[in-house]
Amino acid sequence: MFLTFLGGAGTVTGSKTLVEAGAPGEEQRVLIDCGLFQGPREIRERNWETFPIDPATVKAVILTHAHLDHCGYLPALVREGFAGPVYCSPNTADLVPIILRDSAKLQEEDTAWARTKGFSRHVDPRPLYDATDAEQAIALLRPIEFGIDITPIPSLTARLAPAGHILGSSTITLVDQLRQRTVVFSGDLGRGNHPLLEGPHPPEDADAVVIESTYGDREHGDVEAEIDEMAAAITRTLHRGGTVVIPAFAVDRTEVLLIALRRLQDQQRIPMAQISVDSPMALAALRVYVQAIRDHDPEILTAIDAEGPEAIDLPNLDEATTREQSMALDSGGPRIIVSASGMASGGRVTHHLKAALPDRRNTILLVGYQAVGTPGRLLLDGVHELKIHGQYVPVRAEIAEIEAFSVHAGPQELVDWIAGTREPPAQVFVNHGEPEAAEALADRIRDQLDVAVVMAQPGDRVRI
Ligand SMILES: [Zn+2]
Repeated sequence: MFLTFLGGAGTVTGSKTLVEAGAPGEEQRVLIDCGLFQGPREIRERNWETFPIDPATVKAVILTHAHLDHCGYLPALVREGFAGPVYCSPNTADLVPIILRDSAKLQEEDTAWARTKGFSRHVDPRPLYDATDAEQAIALLRPIEFGIDITPIPSLTARLAPAGHILGSSTITLVDQLRQRTVVFSGDLGRGNHPLLEGPHPPEDADAVVIESTYGDREHGDVEAEIDEMAAAITRTLHRGGTVVIPAFAVDRTEVLLIALRRLQDQQRIPMAQISVDSPMALAALRVYVQAIRDHDPEILTAIDAEGPEAIDLPNLDEATTREQSMALDSGGPRIIVSASGMASGGRVTHHLKAALPDRRNTILLVGYQAVGTPGRLLLDGVHELKIHGQYVPVRAEIAEIEAFSVHAGPQELVDWIAGTREPPAQVFVNHGEPEAAEALADRIRDQLDVAVVMAQPGDRVRI
């Protein structure tokens, strides 16, 4: 079996790994994840490059989870000729349509905006894909339960196990039946302390493991201390009459945040204020989470299962669904706005940032991973002006960072996960991380597990 790293190698977005297996001369192709490149323009432009192989020759796609950087390129793949099944867990199959429809809409809106305002470098800007392409991709989704074997191509078996990162997230085990070789893909791996989800299952014994490295060089801080910091930042902002804007990934991060905000309110650690979720996508995802709790889904933590859907139900939650409701939130004053996207690279949160950044009373609370070059990272790096929709906006608001909500395993958690196999794998490939993070994780795995570790390079083809 051969792996080729097409995306998510040397960067945290655009995850795509090509797998080729079968008798010599009859090899067939499967793609593990089909993510969108996100972040700075030079990375995003990779979405526009000709796909390195003919998409029509890919027999199936298997998704680890519903985040855009793992599934967001699917409609483009379909548009270029892919027509096979897209296997994923049942909860992923419920979340992916929400993500893809939103992504298609954002692409269309951004294109229309660029066309009217004339700030695109292209004379006639076009979206990467549109709503029709997204619907065609959604029609290909095939949910499969955890632990059930499927045969995406002859001689290759695939099965999923929970990864504890977001609802539906899975690790993928592939077995080449001809050569009896096994490879496990971590996808994005949870930390085992998700407030809603059970932790990741240990990997099966494998000849090779492909592991993510988003937090490969950074230990997570003390969660309780960070929650205290968040409570303090929210309290001082609301007391000075300011708005707290929280850019948050619509899927999972919003749910995790709502639980935390509800607990802080219940414990009277933050003042009561209106909490607005301004993201139709986040609200749709919230319904999938609530349904999973109602259905006693095995991914849901026992304690949350016992508490029921009230666990993520806030009495003072304001749902901004229309554009008018969204715009009304920018009138200022003490309130909390949770809005997507998580790195502020698009979506409604960009409008809230434009309104909130120039006023010292406000706070931008960054609660997730901020990739290099994204507006979120620029704010963390202390820029004085931020370019939004082609215009520079002065940054006077307080910028606070809370890492407590990370749903990515830290470096030691990643090593411990690999060490969960009975026999160590012969090879480990580190992907889905910025180069320093991937390098640091590779060193740590080598030191502790004494196995061959390679940093996945874009375009690199390896034999398992
Ligand atoms: Zn993810």
